[in-house]
Amino acid sequence: MLTQVNSDQRFDKLTFNFLSTLNIIDHIRNTRDITRDELEQILETEDKASIEYLRSSAREVATAAYGNKIFMRGLIELSSHCKNDCLYCGLRRSNSAAVRYRLSDEQIYDCCEQGYKLGFRTFVMQGGEDGWFDDKRMCRIVSTVRQHYPDCAITLSLGERSRESYQALFDAGANRYLLRHETASPEHYARLHPAEMSFQNRIDCLYALKEIGYQVGCGFMVGSPYQTIDTLYADLQFIRTFQPQMVGIGPFISATGTPFQDQPNGKVGTTLRLLAIIRLLHPPVLLPATTALGTLHPQGRELGIQFGANVVMPNLSPRDHRKDYAIYDNKICTGEEAAECRACTEGRIRKIGYETVVDRGDFNPNLEY
Ligand code: SAH
Repeated sequence: MLTQVNSDQRFDKLTFNFLSTLNIIDHIRNTRDITRDELEQILETEDKASIEYLRSSAREVATAAYGNKIFMRGLIELSSHCKNDCLYCGLRRSNSAAVRYRLSDEQIYDCCEQGYKLGFRTFVMQGGEDGWFDDKRMCRIVSTVRQHYPDCAITLSLGERSRESYQALFDAGANRYLLRHETASPEHYARLHPAEMSFQNRIDCLYALKEIGYQVGCGFMVGSPYQTIDTLYADLQFIRTFQPQMVGIGPFISATGTPFQDQPNGKVGTTLRLLAIIRLLHPPVLLPATTALGTLHPQGRELGIQFGANVVMPNLSPRDHRKDYAIYDNKICTGEEAAECRACTEGRIRKIGYETVVDRGDFNPNLEY
């Protein structure tokens, strides 16, 4: 008898949690807002049906906005030199074991040429904060690529620069800029970065980029050391306020030679749940299924798409240098040529029922969804 009562109570609690999680998901979708406690419940539920409902809701919203299209961007990793010392990143200046390289102008143009032939219409140029790529050099590169490929979007991800520099690069022809805010909590930011780096400056950079007219991407690592529900809640509210065109999130992965080398990796499941929540909070957002997600799970990128992501970024960097852009350990796709990388990504996406598209894939705030 007693057992019966207990199991009924347990059943009631489970049913209650299940129904309330479904309500929360509908509520986020309808109001495009979330409370801290709702976030906690979604991140902590172990109920498979609730997670499936989150996944299908996010996918429905992504499909309403973009159909079954997944945008491909070609990633070119310009430099593994960095003047910064972010505690999580394998390219931090104090990591004496990091192998440093930088691409020449010609190597960059070769990557674009190959990428264009492979159908890419967005080039993402990313790198550490490397003074070699000063405004003169970078503007020359951007304007050359702009002239050769007027139908392509140029995305930059070169860290914090001055407003004048962002303006000059924009005038030279860059369209988009990725600068993850890393965390929206100033206290958390201070635990991930050395004292000389400033949370406020990063946020100011993001607003400057937006004012100049870039399509801007912010974002953060999932499971970075000292991250809490509260810092994640701040991240989501920052996204709601800032209204970026893109949001890049991926799991934190420990990098040998950094102060965080023994910290646990972020969780794939949490990353997927957050991707879905971001899709529900900000339906038109361009949301990549990142390489970091693919590194921690063999089907990580496919799962990301199924949880609401709609962008993938195959690597176009010269194969000789791929393994040296080592922001974290065991990064995937370091052994393939660009063409193989593109074909593999496309195959994976097709296999799960989506279509890769090679157009620019601009952000469209007026989408119906
Ligand atoms: N220097 C540029 C590009 C940095 S690399 C910039 O500052 O924006 C791009 C992103 O990789 C970073 O913004 C960070 O969020 C992520 N990253 C760095 N180290 C990582 C790690 N150990 N695990 C997972 N992601 C990492």
